[in-house]
This record gives sequence, structure tokens and C-alpha cells, in this order.
Amino acid sequence: MKREKNGFTHKHSLGQNFLTDVGLLERLADLSNVGTSDRVLEIGAGDGAMTKVLARRCEKVLSIEIDEALMHILRVAMIHYPNVQLVHGDVMRLNLPELTQEMGPFHVVANIPYYITTDLMNLLLSSGMPILSINLMVQKEAAERIVARPGESGYGMLAVKSQYFYDPAIALDVPSCMFTPPPKVDSVFVTMPKRAMPKVQVKDEALFFRIASCAFAMRRKTMANNLIAAFRLSREKAEGWLAACDISLSARGETLSMQDFANLVNTWPEQK
Ligand code: SAM
Repeated sequence: MKREKNGFTHKHSLGQNFLTDVGLLERLADLSNVGTSDRVLEIGAGDGAMTKVLARRCEKVLSIEIDEALMHILRVAMIHYPNVQLVHGDVMRLNLPELTQEMGPFHVVANIPYYITTDLMNLLLSSGMPILSINLMVQKEAAERIVARPGESGYGMLAVKSQYFYDPAIALDVPSCMFTPPPKVDSVFVTMPKRAMPKVQVKDEALFFRIASCAFAMRRKTMANNLIAAFRLSREKAEGWLAACDISLSARGETLSMQDFANLVNTWPEQK
């Protein structure tokens, strides 16, 4: 634990690795591409360093912080920023659609606590909220799972869900020494503007995610075996389905592209 000004002590358990360099915070806001007419959700306000940078650029900032000990510091720090709304609570338990409803379409910009990365990404990707972009500081390994391509070790449902709706990229490597206290893991800033259209066109989105998740369910098995297990198909039906989509019968699910999953969805009725 590291004691800072205001008598505040950083809590490792809450992922409290703060950013203080205003030049870096401005760069993160630049990379997030947020400007005067934008509304932003920040998750994990900390002592408000990023919140202030966002507040100076954007129309509105809704900032969530779980640590009661930081709320007083934040309220004082934001006294001259009437466009900042502070909310005390756990982002994973708050009703985000309700909280953000008034904002209309919004961007997410945050240096998040790494322990919630996967759950938070799943929440943001499946909530149906009108999110225009997701821009997050994350652990390097998590970023690699977001941007992974077919066949890469990180390729899985997080990559498929992220890339279906958004266009993720690793925008910046951020050295540990830029954080207080420095984390023991490597950090990168990921930017994800929402796509105008999903990456692939499918007749049935729920079926698309069901087929994709069956591809990764048993990573060492072939896609044919995974389809047989997940959809209770005969081998003949499963192999006919794959052949109709030009997918090798020996292909493993984790090597299939999102277009392959889309082709499977779009030829599904013929298999019934
Ligand atoms: N935004 C600040 C900055 O960049 O310096 C702080 C970032 S720090 C990595 C993450 C912040 O998220 C901490 O202030 C921590 O208390 C807060 N936090 C941790 N878990 C949270 C949760 N479940 N919901 C909301 N905030 C959380």
C-alpha cells in the first residue's frame, strides 16, 4: 500500500494504479477521439485526474467510483466542473442502462481496475447501451484477447464479441512507471470505435454467438465434433454443413474466421 497526499492509501485489491501525467491523460483522450459534443462514461474515477481531462473536453462526464474513501476527494476535485456527475458504487452492480439513459449515445473512456476487465467488457458488449466507442487501459494479455485473430492463442469469445460490434486496436503501450503505484503487469490502451455495421452480416445474431461459442468450447476438437455435440447433429449433417461453407472437415473451431461463423449461420436453415 502506498500513502499519497490527502492521507489516501492506494488499495491493491481495487486495482488502484493511478495516472498523474497530464500529457499522457491528454494523449489517451486524443486517442479516444472525444470532443466538445461528446458524453463520456468513466469507470473508476480514482482521484479524478482523467475525469478532469475529460471534463475539459467533453459535454458531460459520468464517473463511477467504488471506493468511499475517494468520494470526498473527488467531490472537492470536481467542484469547478459542473459537467461531471459522480456516482459512488460498483460498476458491476449498478444499473448502467438506467444511469446512462439521460446521456443518449456515449463513449467509454477509462483506466479500469484490471480485475474486472473480462466481466466489464462482457457487460458493455451485451448491455445494448448506445456506446459509440470503448477506450480502456487494460493489461496487455487482455488486450491481446480483444484484438486476437483466428488461430492466435488469445482468439476466443471476447475477440469475437469485441470485433463483431467494434473495431479494436492497441493504440498505445503505457510503461508501468507512468502509474502510481506501478502495476506488476504490462499495460496498453485499447481503442474500439463502434462499427457502422457489424463486421459480418448474419441472419440471426444469437445463433452467430452460439456457433462461435461452440467453436471455442472444446478447443482441441474439430469444429465438426463441436457442432455435433452442441447441436445434436449426425456426423453426416455436421460435415455437410461445413462443406457447404467451404470449411475443412478437420478444421478446429479456434481457426475459423468470423466470416466462417457467419456462413454457418446463414446456411443453418438447410440443416434443420
Ligand atoms: N481513473 C483514475 C486514474 O486513471 O488515475 C484511477 C484508475 S484506477 C486503475 C481504477 C479505479 O477504479 C480505482 O479508483 C478503483 O477504486 C476503482 N474501482 C475498482 N473497482 C471498481 C468497481 N467495481 N466499480 C467502480 N470503480 C472501481
